[in-house]
Amino acid sequence: MLSYRHAFHAGNHADVLKHFVQVQLHQYMNQKDTAYTYIDTHSGAGVYALDSNFATKNAEFDTGIGPLWGRTDLPPALAEYVDLVKGMNPSGKMRYYPGSPWVADQMTRPEDRLRLFELHPADSKILADNFRKAEAHKAEQGERSRGRRVMIERGDGFMSMKALLPPPSRRALVLIDPPYEVKDDYRKVKDALEEALGRFPSGMFAVWYPVLQRMESRQFADRLKRLPAKEWLHVTLTVSTPGPDGFGLHSSGMFILNPPYTLEPLLREVMPYLVKVLGKDAGASFLIERGTQVTGAAAARVGASGTARQPVGNARRASPLSGTGSLRLPGQAMPTRDAGAKDAARPDGGPVAKPGAAKVNAAARAKRFSRPETERPDERFDPTRSPDAGKAPRARYADERPRVPGARPERAASARPASGRPVAGTGPARPARKRG
Ligand code: SAM
Repeated sequence: MLSYRHAFHAGNHADVLKHFVQVQLHQYMNQKDTAYTYIDTHSGAGVYALDSNFATKNAEFDTGIGPLWGRTDLPPALAEYVDLVKGMNPSGKMRYYPGSPWVADQMTRPEDRLRLFELHPADSKILADNFRKAEAHKAEQGERSRGRRVMIERGDGFMSMKALLPPPSRRALVLIDPPYEVKDDYRKVKDALEEALGRFPSGMFAVWYPVLQRMESRQFADRLKRLPAKEWLHVTLTVSTPGPDGFGLHSSGMFILNPPYTLEPLLREVMPYLVKVLGKDAGASFLIERGTQVTGAAAARVGASGTARQPVGNARRASPLSGTGSLRLPGQAMPTRDAGAKDAARPDGGPVAKPGAAKVNAAARAKRFSRPETERPDERFDPTRSPDAGKAPRARYADERPRVPGARPERAASARPASGRPVAGTGPARPARKRG
């Protein structure tokens, strides 16, 4: 099923969490001189126009990048992410939002490699066009492009990732960000990670997922904790109490295997701020947990050192780990989200969520989370009709020529436009679904 289009959700609170973390993972990878490979298993279109009919449909960016745009009190780590987005919008007006491939393109160095996979025919074409335009722009500026720095392929990211691991430099950052339209995506992520860790145990793997009532989502993080990675770090951002109708995405998480040691302190600094600025009601909260592989050996090692890992921030109360951190063993009972919310202290000192407020029927909620199939916005993004039309050369945007037959897989060498300006809007309309 390929009905999901990320253009409807670009810049929402889930993107903020994901891309803020992604920026920090690149920062860490960039600390060593050795080149690394960035693998994006589910790339999307790469760049999104926030004034397109897709993005304005529900204006989800109003729950994410919007409230951060004009802030002058951003924590420094969060400011790095917001500055990257602002770099795409030199007019000062919030018009473009970067997808994960664009974040990676901006954050990586000429010697690093980007391997981008996208299954949707329209989005994979737009993604390739974006990078092609960027390359052309770079050539116009007289910069020499690096031939195979970026490879874009229309294909299944789960399958394709395997073949790339381990990378020649033995350094890789992998982002796995499927739509979760179907519950099978949860299993596929876990299976793909299991295999990837077998091939490349030291790789850094970051997974985004929606925090929903459906069982696959509730159990997902616990399943990932049991994967054979040395360490993991788990962070969730909840912006509101789930509505009784079950519509909308109120919470999402990032689960990082083999995380950089630098990330947790940054999350402690940034997550309370995100809750304060993006939180909509008393249900807003965050969770940070970390741990080591949940095996007898790992547990004993933690126990022997006397330094049981603790959930941090409001996770100390809200986390199912309740202070036992990675010592929780597989199969140990996990409280419901409601139970966690009951005790959760707002990091900003605000009121706590009411117990039971989040109770909705899991099956009904999972169903309602999806957009109706009948929703078929049929207008294409047209940069000539946008308010900034004429300010940027049209050549910087993805064109919408019909797909060239036989152009699969699509490959493009990347170039970062010297100006850091965006190169694309987004493409043709298809029914979209929210993840879940
Ligand atoms: N990572 C992107 C970002 O942060 O900007 C957003 C990706 S979006 C949530 C998920 C994308 O995965 C969609 O564009 C969808 O078409 C694509 N997709 C779905 N199944 C896929 C698969 N098996 N392999 C590659 N891409 C897939």
